[in-house]
Amino acid sequence: MARIVLTNAQLFDGQSAPRRGVHVVVSGRRIESLSEGPVPETGADDRTHDLAGRTLMPGMVQGHFHSHFGAFGTGISSPILGLEASPAYHGILAARNVQTALNCGFTSIIGSSNADGVDLAVKDAVGHGLIPGPRILACTREFMTTGEQADGNNSSWFMNLGNRGLTRTLDGADQWRHAAREEIGRGCDVVKVSSGQGHGAAPTVDECYMTDAELEAVVSVAHSRGALVRSHCPTRPAILQAARLSVDIIDHADRIDPECIDEILKAGSIVAPSMLFSFRLMQMIDNWDPASGPFPMGGAAGEEGEDAQARVRLMREDWEHTCRYMPEAAAAGIKMIVGDDFGVPGMPHGDYGSELELYVKQLGVSAQEVLTWATRNGASLMGRGDELGTVAPGKLADLIVVEGDPLSDITCLKDPARVSAVIKNGEWLKDTL
Ligand SMILES: [Zn+2]
Repeated sequence: MARIVLTNAQLFDGQSAPRRGVHVVVSGRRIESLSEGPVPETGADDRTHDLAGRTLMPGMVQGHFHSHFGAFGTGISSPILGLEASPAYHGILAARNVQTALNCGFTSIIGSSNADGVDLAVKDAVGHGLIPGPRILACTREFMTTGEQADGNNSSWFMNLGNRGLTRTLDGADQWRHAAREEIGRGCDVVKVSSGQGHGAAPTVDECYMTDAELEAVVSVAHSRGALVRSHCPTRPAILQAARLSVDIIDHADRIDPECIDEILKAGSIVAPSMLFSFRLMQMIDNWDPASGPFPMGGAAGEEGEDAQARVRLMREDWEHTCRYMPEAAAAGIKMIVGDDFGVPGMPHGDYGSELELYVKQLGVSAQEVLTWATRNGASLMGRGDELGTVAPGKLADLIVVEGDPLSDITCLKDPARVSAVIKNGEWLKDTL
């Protein structure tokens, strides 16, 4: 069988310090060997590349992915709740976005709410070979309680007039259980729930939307059927509830604090900080002149200038709190993944490397650790840690080649052109070597 032989790489294997001068042989779907020293013998059919010190690392996992976000980039401007375009158009957008992620070195993605079964359709299209794309864990709509912030106050109430969009409003354990059964039954791998206000253009409020019984119902259905539960979880009570009730992915965790850190460690939940969105929001606030009109995102209808100023002050407090405690959470051993709200204004799909850069520069986390979040942690969350997320003999060959050294300069992952090869399952899906 023809093999792929990549010689003289700087290897980041997803867990330990990088090594230079490593040769990696891929045979079929799997990694056959790693070696140093003499270049492995090759056959006439083998495809050999001297990587000349380029970085070889595991394909990354985009751990919080809204597959159809980004219609604004096509000239449509409207909310990001799955009503901005037709279901068919969203499918086309999602097909483009998963290919963008692949092009940026992400060989897996974990969905985080979508409309109209778009995640499922794209997952199937990749599985059937209609389009090249990453491995996909498809997510449900975002389950939420009646009257919560995103349901009532941000002009999306019209979704409950028969439009479905991205969200699904549920009340009481029976409804939550039914919805989880229904959407997992259709093939969803991840259930997304919304359990607190914040991490967006609304500040956190110290409350929790879901009752314990509602969250328990979803978690028990999901776990009994092999699905994950992820929660939009910015507030302290919501973080504590999620950890206590064994939610798998705590999204955002803006108001994480030492008690939350202890509870999350006990539960073994994974955190997706998704802080690039908040960072870009802070930049918008910095550039906002209240004299020029209302703050452009998130205000209730008729919001007065002073109300808007109070709101952005509270949002800044949330941001400063997160910046203070998220490094503590990482240092305490909480597992993190990468992934953010790409596709919202100011954050186009393809800009994924900026999130990794933020954790290095803003939080002071080492590039190696952030790359571990993006590789080994993502794969282990997908339940595939035994064969993805690290580079070792016998593992599936999901590999990328990066021009430069992301361990000393993480910003090289910001430029898709510097991801010169993407191999998934031993198959070349991008090759500019
Ligand atoms: Zn999100």
